[in-house]
Amino acid sequence: MSHIVCTVSNCYYNKREGCTAPALDVDGEMADESRLTCCDTFIEQKPGMKSSVQEPKGETQISCKAKKCTYNDNERCDAQRIVVNGKNAQHTEETCCSTFIS
Ligand code: SF4
Repeated sequence: MSHIVCTVSNCYYNKREGCTAPALDVDGEMADESRLTCCDTFIEQKPGMKSSVQEPKGETQISCKAKKCTYNDNERCDAQRIVVNGKNAQHTEETCCSTFIS
């Protein structure tokens, strides 16, 4: 379980740089740097679309395919805190886990 700080303010799940998603999926099977990872849980909040009514969770379960990351333990994230970036992203590929370290 990790605390998530997320700057993807146009994601359906984003609230005050917190994440309200029930769980997170991070992709990046071949990633050897952070920009090659992405948040698969991202849903673009199009104009007029309501955002999640949930509050950000203190800690979230993260499944992660970026096996080359130091924090990856059997496809689970072991970091206490991660930062997800991707301002104005329209697709998952435009987001990334900036905490990735190999
Ligand atoms: S810190 Fe590493 S293991 Fe955790 S979500 Fe980011 S890339 Fe995956």
